Amino acid sequence: MSLAPDDHRRKLLMAAFQMPSVQTMVSRKSSITNAFVSAIIPVIVPTHDEIEEALRILGMEPHDVQCAYCGDKASEWDHLRPLVLDRRPTGYVSEIANLVPSCGKCNQSKGNKPWREWMVSSARLSPTGRGIAGVADRIGKLEKYAQWRSPTRIDFESVLGRDGWEHDWSLCEAVIEQLRRCQDVADTLRAQIGNSLKC
Ligand SMILES: [Zn+2]
Repeated sequence: MSLAPDDHRRKLLMAAFQMPSVQTMVSRKSSITNAFVSAIIPVIVPTHDEIEEALRILGMEPHDVQCAYCGDKASEWDHLRPLVLDRRPTGYVSEIANLVPSCGKCNQSKGNKPWREWMVSSARLSPTGRGIAGVADRIGKLEKYAQWRSPTRIDFESVLGRDGWEHDWSLCEAVIEQLRRCQDVADTLRAQIGNSLKC
């Protein structure tokens, strides 16, 4: 069935336009938590030998570093075990034994999910969701990588003292609470302003 010229034009116009997505204050909650945790945890720079060993386990050469999840060109290194889970720090740190080369798509899509479950999930940008070949082989290499060393895991309460740590963490919670309140105000303002335009 062919469309009438006007319908065709209308479809084209609707496809040509894209309303900017609405940003909300509360959608920033996990970025705030992630930023706070990233700012706290140690960053351990690897030696040449450690980088050599890491690439050897992953079957890669330094001049051709690929995403360990999907095989695309790597643009960053991603925390294999997440730094944050259920909006609390896991204790894992930034060290090569907990970092693997990744592309931006995989890093974004994986987020704080457990790597293996995410790889075989049908999430839109996961390797399985994208129909990438050889996922089982990549999982095998990543399993070897995960066993390479016992990762450092910080017990915040024992290092900082239970009360001190809870107090400091509550500062991050307070920022998030303020975001929630700000979002409520924004919702009210938007409704009020929208109503004023209808007059
Ligand atoms: Zn990837």
